[in-house]
Amino acid sequence: MGYEVSVDGDECVSAGKCIASAPGFFVFDDDEIAAVHPAGTPPDDQTLLRIARSCPSGAIRLSSNGAPVDI
Ligand code: SF4
Repeated sequence: MGYEVSVDGDECVSAGKCIASAPGFFVFDDDEIAAVHPAGTPPDDQTLLRIARSCPSGAIRLSSNGAPVDI
């Protein structure tokens, strides 16, 4: 099973890098805060790790079987 993904909306600075990297999976909500689309197809785990590491505010959280993944 792939990583579980979430975005901490309090930390997102709306830079849009995640959305540019995985459009349709990461989306902006009405306040231009990134969120994970519930029906989006997730990228593979290595891609998710790369996207999470490139988030300028560290807002993207990954976990595996409920345990946080080091980013
Ligand atoms: S890359 Fe990070 S800061 Fe930029 S929109 Fe995505 S979650 Fe927000």
